[in-house]
Amino acid sequence: MTAVVLLEEVRSFGVEIHAEGQDLVIRPGGRLPAELKECLKAAKPEILAILRARGGRIANFPRCPTCKSYALYRRNNTGLYECQTCGLTGIEEQVARNYDDDCGGRVQ
Ligand SMILES: [Zn+2]
Repeated sequence: MTAVVLLEEVRSFGVEIHAEGQDLVIRPGGRLPAELKECLKAAKPEILAILRARGGRIANFPRCPTCKSYALYRRNNTGLYECQTCGLTGIEEQVARNYDDDCGGRVQ
């Protein structure tokens, strides 16, 4: 499982994940199955790098409006995204963050 897929998996449980120093903070942690936590632990350096690159949390993680992939890329972390899964380019940040097909990432 790649780190990006793992994060998608985590989000599907409706939890928030943050980078805090060298730690991953998951809230509420009790919602995640133990094996998923093990995977997170194993992929921690990559997960931390992704979270830091994308502002620390995945509650409003940018996502491809076409294929729903989180594997978006933008040069210098500014401007338009391009999707590394389906190849869509010119994705505006607002579009990428405003998908609303589920409420999985929202913790009230
Ligand atoms: Zn895509």
